Amino acid sequence: MAIDKVLMPGEATLGVMGGGQLGRMFVQAAQSLGYRAVVLDADADSPAGAVAHQQVRTGYLDPQGLAELAAAADAITTEFENVPAQALATLAEQRRVAPAGRCVAVCQDRADEKAHFKASGVACAPHAVIRSEAELAAVDASLLPGILKTARMGYDGKGQARVRDRAELAAAWAAMKGVPCVLEQLLPLDLELSVIVARGLDGQVVEFPVQQNLHRDGILAVTEVPAPSVPEAVQAEARTAAARIATELGYVGVLCVEFFLLKDGRLLVNEMAPRPHNSGHYTLDACDVSQFEAQVRALAGLPLRQPRLHSPVVMLNLLGDLWFDAEGRERSPCWDQVLALPGAHLHLYGKAEPRQGRKMGHLNIIGASAAEAAASARQAAALLGLPSEW
Ligand code: ATP
Ligand code: MG
Repeated sequence: MAIDKVLMPGEATLGVMGGGQLGRMFVQAAQSLGYRAVVLDADADSPAGAVAHQQVRTGYLDPQGLAELAAAADAITTEFENVPAQALATLAEQRRVAPAGRCVAVCQDRADEKAHFKASGVACAPHAVIRSEAELAAVDASLLPGILKTARMGYDGKGQARVRDRAELAAAWAAMKGVPCVLEQLLPLDLELSVIVARGLDGQVVEFPVQQNLHRDGILAVTEVPAPSVPEAVQAEARTAAARIATELGYVGVLCVEFFLLKDGRLLVNEMAPRPHNSGHYTLDACDVSQFEAQVRALAGLPLRQPRLHSPVVMLNLLGDLWFDAEGRERSPCWDQVLALPGAHLHLYGKAEPRQGRKMGHLNIIGASAAEAAASARQAAALLGLPSEW
């Protein structure tokens, strides 16, 4: 197959590495355009596997599983950033794979990721890479207090430690068993924002509106669009920076770039994810094309269209905690009451077992105005027992 061939809706099968909720929403977007969808995931009970036409039930590096996926799918993407880059490279010998393993590999390593930001001319937090006792000893005092982060495999704030001085830094690195880490200066954050961009096979880039994000306990809790506290000029800067990061990487697919806005007004890039992102779920109900449809379009070689926000929106993340009362007894959240609210759109991922901190779904609340969306979202939060302050 010529690499630039358009895979027409209704005529091809799209594959995805990973069976989580991001894979599920990719599959749903693909199916809505008439594609068949195949998922590779070892879990017999995965959110994406449950809705796909076909599931290959093997690990990411299983040669037979990869061969089966390549045989079934005309093009393959990923929903999970820690899919081994080698697996994507193997698939790419036979099929179009987007994003490429080489791009995903950069996102898997905080040190490489920061080097790429620098190469793209986008500022990130002052930091040092720590891979040896010598590098630990050489850390510049200006980076303390700081946050020590494992270079690989961190998510939702896991694999991180706040350190005040050299003694705490050394102890934290030892507790992380001396794996390669990045120490970042602890920054005075005003707020956090992110941008979803999509880049096509032809190099065309489209940018979604900037989203403002609130985290609780290291996990995304609330996303608001339009970003209420981010000046227009900063939003433009973030969109341009995200597009440049994708272009400089030769990236194809959907990329999420997270930023910090500092108290002094400076914008710094934090990290990126080579896939749709939790903070981009608002696009499902508030934009004329979702981040998942953009992923499908980019993979299929279809035209990308500059997304338009048609409604102000608040997204509330729904964690497993909502399925338990104050005494720890399991309960069902009051979806019937929530769905009576104007503008409420519920997305549940089909996970059978709720657990504390587990992402079970999200709620998009759109309105004719930002005030209307916020009012409805606060009512939803109150009904669900979530904090109504953000
Ligand atoms: P996820 O993958 O869920 O986005 P993560 O585990 O990769 O998270 P980061 O995004 O690096 O972790 O950090 C998690 C949160 O910690 C950030 O959203 C931010 O609130 C805070 N944080 C991270 N780095 C810094 C920093 N240098 N200064 C101040 N706060 C920071
Ligand atoms: Mg993050």
